[in-house]
Amino acid sequence: MIWRPIKNRLQTELFKRGHCVGCTKSLSTAHRIPHSTKPNIEIVTCDCRRIYLYNKQLNEYRRATEKDL
Ligand SMILES: [Zn+2]
Repeated sequence: MIWRPIKNRLQTELFKRGHCVGCTKSLSTAHRIPHSTKPNIEIVTCDCRRIYLYNKQLNEYRRATEKDL
């Protein structure tokens, strides 16, 4: 898959700027709720229904997996 590395780089770049990798919307305006067990984590839901975890301590986003929620 020749596209894979390029896509990953693009996603990393979007993450760093706090944007959704799906619709490129800013995650700062997305709906966020505190994580039930991890005080440093917020669950961020984008308008396009992709779900991310925001680490307040590290100031960084990542995609949420099912076991994160
Ligand atoms: Zn989105």
